[in-house]
Amino acid sequence: MTESVKVSASSQMSVGGRDHPASGVFDVLNPATGSVLAHAPAFAPEDLSHVFGVAESAFQTWRSDESARRAALRVAADALETAEDVLATLLTAEQGKPLREARSEIKVSATWLRYYADLEVPREIIRDDERGYEEVLHRPLGVVAAITPWNYPVTLAVWKIAPALRAGNTMVVKPSPYTPLTTLAIGELLRGVLPDGVFNVITGVEPLGADMVAHPIPRKVTFTGSTPVGKRVAVSAAGDLKRVTLELGGNDPAIVLPGANIERIAKRLFWGAFRNSGQTCFAIKRVYAHESIHDQLVDAVAAIARTVTVDDGMADGVELGPINNRPQLQHVDDLVQDALRSGGRAAAGGTRIDRRGYFFEPTIIDRVEDGVRVVDEEQFGPVLPIVEFRDTSDAVARANHSPFGLTASVWSEDTERAMEVAAQLDSGQVSVNSHGAGVQPHLPFGGHKWSGVGVENGIWGLHSFTDTQVVTGPARRREETERTGAK
Ligand code: NAD
Repeated sequence: MTESVKVSASSQMSVGGRDHPASGVFDVLNPATGSVLAHAPAFAPEDLSHVFGVAESAFQTWRSDESARRAALRVAADALETAEDVLATLLTAEQGKPLREARSEIKVSATWLRYYADLEVPREIIRDDERGYEEVLHRPLGVVAAITPWNYPVTLAVWKIAPALRAGNTMVVKPSPYTPLTTLAIGELLRGVLPDGVFNVITGVEPLGADMVAHPIPRKVTFTGSTPVGKRVAVSAAGDLKRVTLELGGNDPAIVLPGANIERIAKRLFWGAFRNSGQTCFAIKRVYAHESIHDQLVDAVAAIARTVTVDDGMADGVELGPINNRPQLQHVDDLVQDALRSGGRAAAGGTRIDRRGYFFEPTIIDRVEDGVRVVDEEQFGPVLPIVEFRDTSDAVARANHSPFGLTASVWSEDTERAMEVAAQLDSGQVSVNSHGAGVQPHLPFGGHKWSGVGVENGIWGLHSFTDTQVVTGPARRREETERTGAK
């Protein structure tokens, strides 16, 4: 039972390597029950200059020793893995996901920390000859404000923490008020691993995030969340030209071409949409299925939806947990009821599950078209619309006719044909016969159009926490030669 989960009542904010006093508390609910799980500390907005000042003071030392930074990230990875039991249990309790997936989130986050610890960044010496010396450097920005959502609170924070710290920045991280506990625990865990002031964690309800973005000290805001809030962040950060990376919403299409082997792909496609109860930014959010395989696909995916085990994330054998919060549950329900009123059919599911907590039946909807909300909008929940198409170019046009462009996939037995179709899709990543396979530490992840600005991960994500600097001068190799008298 989730109620028996031991949640650290002593969860404290971490500023300058020690507890930071709260101005009050706010409730954190367990989505599997809807009841209060913990009281999280609320940060007083008037303390922002203090915490950003602490991070700013730590910057000068932290930026100067890259090998110390790399070593610290390795120790941080070890610390996360050692604390996997506690962190994963907290994560399931506040987020809702199955414990197995919470464990995997902690492991994956350690992998990301190690990736950035180990990443070799070659020097970019463009010229060093008789005409002179030219080098491109990437200099840390200073203090970074990081704001994260509730669906993958740990991984999405680490996508920011690892490259920002490796690049030499210091940071203040603020998790979603729906899922503050695991990030608070990580703040406490990393005291002593990272020098005081390098990594600070604060929690609270809005307008805390907005105040962080507006504050004059941070030189960069890295934000993952919804598109409407991302737009507000961009406007506010523009006021003093802070750098921004925005990882925002999506409406990710999967196109299933004629001749696709439904038996082979149904499971992969289902989990590409439903993992974490559909609360994954790059989850499949709509399927375009060719008329020749449409009915078979709907039947196959609906059969899986009817048999997966939906339960409290702590229960044995659970495959899908609850939706994280009540407003999100309401949003999902609204989209489904609107689709059914518009002539859609629930091939599986279609309603809330009659129990405590925020549970919704895994739902497959067919007989819907573009123009219906569940096809046009991001559902971010356990619901998948399947739209029939006749002509592939029409499916591509419909897939691209969206303000979003995060990820996409194309499914076919004919890989070359699928690759041709994939090349026509407007999204930050596109996969063939899988979905989200490019979400890896070494590959850039980011959205086109309203799905974001900039990318995370890989060398590209590291550079996004830097400003570029060109250094020119007289040839250095020659100077070296003259100094040593070598010929
Ligand atoms: P949200 O935009 O409501 O909140 C995200 C974070 O921003 C939270 O920490 C919140 O407290 C904070 N916030 C709220 N108002 C703010 C403001 N005015 N200024 C600054 N910060 C503010 O998003 P959510 O509901 O937590 O997350 C779900 C959304 O996140 C979905 O749209 C999903 O697609 C998106 N998402 C995107 C990615 C990606 O990488 N592209 C990854 C995960 C989630």
